[in-house]
Amino acid sequence: MRMWLVDPRIMCRQHLLGEHLEVHMFLTHLQKEKGIKGYLENNCLEPRSIYQRHQNLMREMIRRGYNHNSSMMETDFSCVGNLSIEQQYWEINKKKSLKTLLERCKECNDRNVQIQFASHNHIVGEEKNGEVNNSESNKVES
Ligand SMILES: [Zn+2]
Ligand SMILES: [Zn+2]
Repeated sequence: MRMWLVDPRIMCRQHLLGEHLEVHMFLTHLQKEKGIKGYLENNCLEPRSIYQRHQNLMREMIRRGYNHNSSMMETDFSCVGNLSIEQQYWEINKKKSLKTLLERCKECNDRNVQIQFASHNHIVGEEKNGEVNNSESNKVES
């Protein structure tokens, strides 16, 4: 089980649906008060982000027209409060997580390149309208 915590837009179908299932599994795991030390140490779990992450993944699934039939209530999430403060606030290293995902999955990597490229073009487009005047737009025009 693993939370990737990368931008959901870059995730291929398999990784998006996989992480969505796994955030539900993590919650069940915590409700049963099973140990999470290994998941934390392996950069796979950020307990206090489970609920928000589920919302973000669900939104992306719906946006793509996938089915979502597994609601997660904020009250289900209260079991995270039983963890120690250190565990509740444990953070995933997101740069490392992204790098791992892109190395493992060509489809996620391709999507990432496309999305980064599209958002770069968007910024350049705005600069050309004269709305943004900084060193970056000077570089484009010179
Ligand atoms: Zn769900
Ligand atoms: Zn993938």
